[in-house]
Amino acid sequence: MKAVLIDGKKIAAEIKAEIKAEVEKLRAKGIIPGLATILVGDDPASHIYVRNKVKDCEETGIFSEKIVLPGNTSAGELLDIVESLNKRNDIHGILVQLPLPRHLDEFEIISAIAPEKDVDGFHPVNQGLMLIGRDAIYPCTPAGVVEMLKRYGIRMEGRHAVVIGRSNIVGKPAAVLLLKENATVTICHSKTENLSEITKTADILVVAVGRARMVTADMVKEGAVVVDVGINRVGDKIVGDVDFEAVAQVAGYITPVPGGVGLVTRAMLLKNTIKACKRQTVG
Ligand code: NDP
Repeated sequence: MKAVLIDGKKIAAEIKAEIKAEVEKLRAKGIIPGLATILVGDDPASHIYVRNKVKDCEETGIFSEKIVLPGNTSAGELLDIVESLNKRNDIHGILVQLPLPRHLDEFEIISAIAPEKDVDGFHPVNQGLMLIGRDAIYPCTPAGVVEMLKRYGIRMEGRHAVVIGRSNIVGKPAAVLLLKENATVTICHSKTENLSEITKTADILVVAVGRARMVTADMVKEGAVVVDVGINRVGDKIVGDVDFEAVAQVAGYITPVPGGVGLVTRAMLLKNTIKACKRQTVG
């Protein structure tokens, strides 16, 4: 392999150690950061994600409260729970695990979370603040992508960053955060023509599509930084959106799947929780 591996496990461990130290400092002042997770229905993947989030909180000293609701919970019932968590002083972060069952409107539910407690960074207020370049709670995955690049000393300023994918939770915010770091950003999506012509000009290529190994070596410039956000199940294996083995022979840096962005995303949720807690307590 030619590329340097961007090790998500190592970065996540570093972030968690920093969080643990911060939590100790807060606890010494009598402040216990608290995160509430709400899970509606019985989607197996969502249960695993929430279990991991609770485990991460336990490891770092963050108080966590897990609320599990049946799949037929009404919007009114869910909104009441969100509202009661908004009012609680011991809960600084609220996370509603997505996707929600079809009868619930995700935008309506997320918009009901108090913006200062929206640790996923999906509330329209946080997304808007991010877009106009103000401090906000940024979505965990794209914030994690930028964090990974920074921790490996990878320069973003002035470089051409290409993001494939334009979802509100990954692609679009990744583009905005790369722009904030002064990269020159191009966003590609399913209607983009000549995709590989564009990706070949990327110094930094962020892929968030959800199609197994769609980015092949011939789409990548020699020495480029390749960040693979994708999580795809192929048989009994989890693979990314990038053909890792082949692209690692061309790229300068590459993130693996698993062991890359996913782990850092989890750590960024803890970071957002501490940020939210500090803003609501010590200011
Ligand atoms: P979405 O399905 O919401 O968005 C996918 C994006 O990819 C869309 O913008 C779509 O374009 C674009 N796209 C689809 N096909 C193509 C194509 N052939 N060429 C170019 N662009 C294409 O997915 P998410 O953003 O939510 O997630 C993307 C991936 O990242 C998934 O694999 C998901 O599991 C993973 N993920 C990983 C996380 C982590 O922690 N590592 C966290 C969140 C997601 P269009 O808009 O035109 O439809």
